[in-house]
Amino acid sequence: MRVKLKLLDSKMEFKFDRDLEDNKIRDDKLTRNIMTDEKIYIKINRNISQNIHPDIIGLVAILLCNPFVGKKLELPLKVSSKFMKDVTSVISRYKIVSEVDHDLEPLIELEDGYPSLAFSGGADSCAALAIMPSRTIGIFLKRPMKKDSKYDHNAPLEICNLLKNAGFDIRIIESNLENIRSPTGFPTDLANSIPALLLSQELRLDSISFGTVLESAFGIGHQNYIEYSKGSHWRFYSKIFSAVGINLSLPVSGVSEVGTTMIGGVSSIASLSQSCIRGKHKKPCLRCWKCFRKELLIYSLGFKSMLNITSLMNTNEVQKRLSEIPISHENVILYSLQRMNLEDFQYLKPIFNKMDKKINLEFLEKWFPDSIEFVPKKYRFTIRENILKYLEPMNSVEIDKVKNWNMNSHLENRDTIKAQEELIKFWQNFNP
Ligand SMILES: [Zn+2]
Repeated sequence: MRVKLKLLDSKMEFKFDRDLEDNKIRDDKLTRNIMTDEKIYIKINRNISQNIHPDIIGLVAILLCNPFVGKKLELPLKVSSKFMKDVTSVISRYKIVSEVDHDLEPLIELEDGYPSLAFSGGADSCAALAIMPSRTIGIFLKRPMKKDSKYDHNAPLEICNLLKNAGFDIRIIESNLENIRSPTGFPTDLANSIPALLLSQELRLDSISFGTVLESAFGIGHQNYIEYSKGSHWRFYSKIFSAVGINLSLPVSGVSEVGTTMIGGVSSIASLSQSCIRGKHKKPCLRCWKCFRKELLIYSLGFKSMLNITSLMNTNEVQKRLSEIPISHENVILYSLQRMNLEDFQYLKPIFNKMDKKINLEFLEKWFPDSIEFVPKKYRFTIRENILKYLEPMNSVEIDKVKNWNMNSHLENRDTIKAQEELIKFWQNFNP
């Protein structure tokens, strides 16, 4: 794969030329996402883009095309020898064949830099902003709207404006980078930070934070606990970001989706959030999986007094998600159902029946302190203090619950399998 870069007056443009080996990967039916031929643009004007360090361009190219590279990758510019060494230490699947400029100084972390957040406007992202230092710069990736897509950026843009009015430094950068693959979406997990990376010198950033929650970082609500610090995800991304002097930061990775919703219930910043990316501002679609999960949780926490469960459940998307084994973020759904009177919500009973009903999930209301490891040292004190304004820390018993999270025996249990069969029958007759 050869990456070409063009700097235009108002945007940067990346083009990817595939070779035979890349096409083999593309034609491999095992790959879920296919690389498209679309040129990728990021709206950053030439005044800024012409001064971006070649290592950052190299990193952005990797974040864009990593899963689609066959045997070798040629970056658009010569990179520093340190960048090449760091990156090749974690990328072994293909070879980076770009030239190295031995005179090029690598980027190092700024001591007096600014923290930033790859901001989405959703509940977890807004909770992250609420507990980060007040000088945090939020950087929103604005996707262009397409006729055939349900995506609507009305809500996050409104939220960005409200935050700007409240004194936050929020940047909105448009990019079509999700069009690099079909189906449309981020090519790599942290590709939503590409605008922040490209602005990192201009804005003097020392770190980029993400709204990754306990469920995603540590596998809670999924099959079993993941020791994130030892996993390949953290090793890979923290290494390639540090190669350009940027710390990776996961300030809410010790907070469950229950916790971010609790923060949203009381913090003026976090309360601005909207997780649904289909509806308009303050008018979530109430048809998508995110809406289902959020509405259920907000209601069960007492932040809302009405819930039209029949309508929320009456979509294929929601029924499909609820039929998964386990349900994605099953812990959050279970936590919500445990706190609701299901006599008032009969339709939820078949879902409750396939879950581990008796498990005590109160620990989801608290902060998992081990997660502070995923915050740069200089921000740990502030972030810990800020989280503790909203949530209690888990005690040792609760920490053990996190570390011993395992759903396998429940998922294999005969009663669970039977309840799942009942649920499938229930959908067939579901006609509210
Ligand atoms: Zn929605």
